[in-house]
Amino acid sequence: MTRTVRNLVDGAWLDSVTGRTAERCNPADTDEVVSVAPDSDAKDADAAVGAVAEGWREWAATPPERRAAVLEAAADVLEAQRDSLVYDLVAEEGKTRAEATFEASRTPLNLRFYAGEAARTTGRTLPAAAGSWVLTTRQPLGVVAAITPWNFPLNIPSRKLGPALAAGNGVVFKPSEVTPLLGQRLADALLDAGLPTGALAVLHGGAEVSQALVADDRVGAVTFTGSTPVGEAIHRAVPPSRRTQLEMGGKNAVVVLEDADLDRAAALVVKGAFGLSGQACTGTSRVVVHEAVHDALLERVAAAARALVVGPGNTPGIDLGPLATARQKDAVLGHVRRALDDGARMVAGGPEDGDVDTGHLGRGHFVRPTVFADVDPASALATEEVFGPVLAFLRVTSFDQALQVADATRFGLSAAIVTADLGRAMAFADRVGSGLVKVNQPTTGQAMNAPFGGVKDSSTQTSKEQAGDAMMSFYTVDKTVYLSA
Ligand code: NAD
Repeated sequence: MTRTVRNLVDGAWLDSVTGRTAERCNPADTDEVVSVAPDSDAKDADAAVGAVAEGWREWAATPPERRAAVLEAAADVLEAQRDSLVYDLVAEEGKTRAEATFEASRTPLNLRFYAGEAARTTGRTLPAAAGSWVLTTRQPLGVVAAITPWNFPLNIPSRKLGPALAAGNGVVFKPSEVTPLLGQRLADALLDAGLPTGALAVLHGGAEVSQALVADDRVGAVTFTGSTPVGEAIHRAVPPSRRTQLEMGGKNAVVVLEDADLDRAAALVVKGAFGLSGQACTGTSRVVVHEAVHDALLERVAAAARALVVGPGNTPGIDLGPLATARQKDAVLGHVRRALDDGARMVAGGPEDGDVDTGHLGRGHFVRPTVFADVDPASALATEEVFGPVLAFLRVTSFDQALQVADATRFGLSAAIVTADLGRAMAFADRVGSGLVKVNQPTTGQAMNAPFGGVKDSSTQTSKEQAGDAMMSFYTVDKTVYLSA
């Protein structure tokens, strides 16, 4: 059944003033239209920002324990709706049921985590002359624009809206145009929990409305998660005095040293590379492996990749769901074809649409897990983000060379090393240019309470997400107050 989604402005669910809409099809079966959402423009953005610019102060004046209670109640709503959220995640985004269950379960926990921060955020008092005081208070910024991608359509917005609202800001939320229904489900949960309507607006659409939103003078901060080129375009559009947080792409490597347990290495490479059909920002896209164990590891990973089952996410026994969009699939297959042209050797997978198990798969954006060996470290496959189930093996002869190859991209989000040598593991952690480092763990998967974010062109490094007080710093500004008796 197709669901109609609308913009949320001043508590009213509205169509775009443009009258334009966009259909979102199930990526596992493009005959099924899952949702229809407004394709908004600058006028819609103006109205949404205006409503929150008027409304946020009421929310900011709400006692912190009440703000916390609203976030907790929204978490309760999401937990009560978990089964239907899983259903919508599978249908609109394309996750497998297991992946969707993880996301639907993690999202309310994020809101609970930030609910705790609402009353915990403190200012300081500073030494001052007798009879006078100098203190800092943490104030909300006003209107926060949150622009998010489709690959975690509940989880990523929750770790932006959670802290922004906990701090007393109002939010204009622009979900991905690929997952408007899931954006609306999160907004619905917050409103059902008692969030005042002036504290939240939702705008559906793509680049046009996003650009208008971030350029609006009334927006005090922009938090964005998405690709690096789009993040860079947003950075150019935001007035320089505004606070901007951009969490962007990755080209994450697993380094496998000659002393590694190869079964363990293969398992964590396969999990990191092919989980979420390769559509995780921290997904493994390169394996940098010592020549002594290269062939043995390649054989294990290729065999495991060939054994993975591709299909609609709601089918039992499925390992990989579809890619999210036709555009995404075309881009991934383009990378595969280019890698072949560049001389890489394909050892698992394939670029052909028909190269799937049953006719049923033909109606979705499916790509088989694909593994390349003999990849030129300077080639596109070794340096550009693919964001699909495509893995590049790169052979090295030493630890130092492994570090250098792992670092040879513009990205710096997640990196892993597999070794029994604690000294080299820590040297890797110290030296690799990456915001997250994993030792004997996949590049994917983070603790919800641990700082999350990249370096280099993966992030503005403004403030780590998920990081408790550091995150609250992004959504608040210190005000220095001088007081005499
Ligand atoms: P995207 O950059 O295409 O879109 C992200 C958001 O920006 C969407 O809401 C989209 O509508 C909007 N947008 C698109 N074009 C725009 C423009 N020109 N100006 C302003 N806004 C625009 O990303 P995506 O395809 O939705 O998501 C995949 C990307 O997100 C990957 O690159 C992935 O690595 C990255 N990602 C990063 C993290 C992280 O935390 N670092 C997490 C998840 C995904």
